[in-house]
Amino acid sequence: MNNPVTRRAFLSTTGAAGAFVAAAGAASLAAETKADVIDCHMHLKHGDAARTEWSADAIIEIMDQAGIDKAVVFGMSTTTARSIELARQAVQKFPRRLIPFLYALPSYERPVIREIETAISDHAFRGIKIHAGECTLAEYIIDPVIRLAGTFPVPCLIDCAGNATVAARLAETFPQTTLLLAHMGRYLSTDVQLVEQFIRVAEKFENVYLDLSAVALVYKIEEAAQRLGARRLVWGTDGPYKNPDAVTYAKAEMDKVRNLKLNDADKQLILGSNIARLLNLPK
Ligand SMILES: [Zn+2]
Repeated sequence: MNNPVTRRAFLSTTGAAGAFVAAAGAASLAAETKADVIDCHMHLKHGDAARTEWSADAIIEIMDQAGIDKAVVFGMSTTTARSIELARQAVQKFPRRLIPFLYALPSYERPVIREIETAISDHAFRGIKIHAGECTLAEYIIDPVIRLAGTFPVPCLIDCAGNATVAARLAETFPQTTLLLAHMGRYLSTDVQLVEQFIRVAEKFENVYLDLSAVALVYKIEEAAQRLGARRLVWGTDGPYKNPDAVTYAKAEMDKVRNLKLNDADKQLILGSNIARLLNLPK
């Protein structure tokens, strides 16, 4: 009876007399197949003024208390090489909980394509973080990275710092590359028009997904879900964040999704199943 197919077949053949047994069976089946809650945006090193770093142990403790099964982790405000080292060490310690992304910080003087290739091919990195605040998204700098991501393929989590034009250019130029647009456009933006521009980019290009971390206009999340479908939204916290404390912050980010007027299946897509599919995580 441990085989889900067998169990489902069994449940469908039980009549009214078997209703109690069927209900008990369904409950345990639901428990067996409970999908993971996955944070798609967790920092080992932040881009704040203090360049705050968080240990893997601290992150796991927050995840345990907030009810987060797995998290994509990365460092920023550092070199690509150090971001790879930070994530490697963290994932080595918690391989079942943490998923490594690297930070792409290419420049004219220092191409990072080789480092990125090695991290993905040899060290099982599953994605790339890019931040317009530290790295120009000009074609000659960023395009080789976005192109490379599409060849593996691994997704790119990009903070476009509000520039929807560059988001659209990347999406159109690299249809093979999955783009996760951080914060639905800009960190804690209250600019309705700006958020609207990013939803439109996602409407136009199927390789675009919207990351819901640190989104201030929560009603636009609801709207995006209606217009794009729940499959195009991915949940993240942009944590750890100390205000008011890291666990309360993470739970509040989760509640933004839990409180949406969507059915449970759609909420689960947003809270974990979409990113699991995009990263090809083992079930
Ligand atoms: Zn972030």
